[in-house]
Amino acid sequence: MPSTSISEILSFEDARHCVEEHAARVRRPEIQTLGLLQALGGVLAQPVMADRDFPPFRRATRDGFALHAADLEKLPASLKVLGEVKAGAASALTIGRGEAAAIMTGAPAPTGSDAIVMVEYTSTQGNQVEITRGVKAGDYIVPKGAEARQGQRLVASGARVDHSVLALAASAGMVQLTMYRKPRVALLATGDEIVDVDDAPGDSQIRNSNSYSLAAQVQRAGGEAVILPVAPDDSEKLRALIERGLESDLLLLSGGVSAGRYDLVEPVLEELNAEFFIRGAQIQPGKPVVFGRVKKNAEEKYFFGLPGNPISTMVTFELFARPMIEALGGEVPRKLTFLYARLKSAITTRTGLTRFLPAILSGEFADTEVELAGWQGSGDIATMARANCYIVVPPDRERIAAGEWVAVLPR
Ligand code: AMP
Ligand code: MG
Repeated sequence: MPSTSISEILSFEDARHCVEEHAARVRRPEIQTLGLLQALGGVLAQPVMADRDFPPFRRATRDGFALHAADLEKLPASLKVLGEVKAGAASALTIGRGEAAAIMTGAPAPTGSDAIVMVEYTSTQGNQVEITRGVKAGDYIVPKGAEARQGQRLVASGARVDHSVLALAASAGMVQLTMYRKPRVALLATGDEIVDVDDAPGDSQIRNSNSYSLAAQVQRAGGEAVILPVAPDDSEKLRALIERGLESDLLLLSGGVSAGRYDLVEPVLEELNAEFFIRGAQIQPGKPVVFGRVKKNAEEKYFFGLPGNPISTMVTFELFARPMIEALGGEVPRKLTFLYARLKSAITTRTGLTRFLPAILSGEFADTEVELAGWQGSGDIATMARANCYIVVPPDRERIAAGEWVAVLPR
């Protein structure tokens, strides 16, 4: 039996910080070159740099007339129209006092002009335009280089490539991106009662669902899942599979970390001289969660022993394993942030643990409400599939009344 005394069980925040501190020190992964769209969801190993000024010319942001703002001090004002500047066209026009040019959104503001008045406040007659509304110098013109100067960093390395990073990379003409290799994350489900999905379960057996929820979560966290065969509650066989799992960049075990006689994960890791940093956190679900490190082929490998109850596995992954996968993928791990929503019906719990309770966000727009999904305990994956978030109940709260704002962790 692992010797876990109550004092070793960390608060939720301490446990999270413990993982974050280790995550901050892991080695950066190898790099690879990927095409723009292939890079989506991966982590930049090189910054995206501005290859030119952003914007590269004084960009008009409205359809209207480019002019001198000072010419509109007395309204209505009548100005002479010198011509038209289309988006994409170079303009040879120079706007003097008392003059204007018709201009389109995205076109370069012609020399001399210092503002644009929207077409809605103008009427043209021949080569004269009458303007009924004033503007300030600078209105509706983005100066050249206002967003970024040529050579300036647009996105730092270590950033996850999402749609906005892709947009920047495309704007800077980067058809190939230097990316970190995704970390390989081994998933090892344990338990004599667990069978692989393609095996027929006996009357007192269940199918392995944790390796699949974890694979999906790993993928979303930027890792590549490697599903190992289910380990029985047998030290020798478990040990062999743990050794195999340690070939990957990170090992996630599920099950076998509670206080039962056949919870063998910690004893077997101890045999392998593992160091343990977390042996339980004051949370529900997921209290028995384990985090540590073990030497494999002269390399230090981290592992998590996630409790086997499917919701516990899902929750402890999000709370603890995710930042390590992000770090192993070269990403700067994100702080865990909660959103707030108004509680629809009261919650009563016992104090002492930070609770992450499956819940359902409903309502619309700013009137978002949240209520418990009404689970049957941490094995209830059917309820979890209907839930879309967790309500976070702090350890000192016994009752939260309907209408109060509560912290919510998106699923
Ligand atoms: P354990 O953490 O090993 O005590 O398991 C806790 C509960 O989770 C038990 O009811 C197990 O049957 C269940 N469980 C453990 N591993 C899995 C798995 N891979 N898939 C589905 N349920 C599991
Ligand atoms: Mg078990």
